[in-house]
Amino acid sequence: MKLKDFCPYCMEINEIEFVEKNEIIEVRGKQIPVKYKERKCTKCGDFYSNVPEDDDPYDMAYRIYREKHNMTQPEDIKRLREKYGLTQDELRKLLGWGAVTLSRYENGALQDGTHQNDLWALKNPQHVLELISERPDALPKEKIERIRTLYRFSYHFTNWDNKGDSKTYDSSCMECAA
Ligand SMILES: [Zn+2]
Repeated sequence: MKLKDFCPYCMEINEIEFVEKNEIIEVRGKQIPVKYKERKCTKCGDFYSNVPEDDDPYDMAYRIYREKHNMTQPEDIKRLREKYGLTQDELRKLLGWGAVTLSRYENGALQDGTHQNDLWALKNPQHVLELISERPDALPKEKIERIRTLYRFSYHFTNWDNKGDSKTYDSSCMECAA
């Protein structure tokens, strides 16, 4: 089946094909090879992409870079935030970050080293409680209560910040034994 799409160069609907391309993208001084697909108009021969459904080579390179450096991926930042029941605005206030920093990271911008350290620390609920005592006005009271409850129960959850909440029975735990 022939694919048809609007070519922005010809300004008309033409047959297109997806062509695999290889590119080296430099991320913070590191050369990262990326393989991605781009649309090619079969009439004019020009390449173009339709955002957001097509491959974004920079996005792909950032993902590879984050994985290599054990950095948090955008969807994991979102998941971590939701685990604490926080909005973007609440979490960025708690971290003391600027207004748009967190939403940029959740949307795929590459985080800097200091911010990444903050993100790693979020995996530990005890650290989040410390942040709350440093910035008591960052969160509404009920959110703070929720996080305190989460912390009380978290020590007998293994990998509590991973998908699926794998729960481990701990006989020394009053909550488990109850
Ligand atoms: Zn064209």
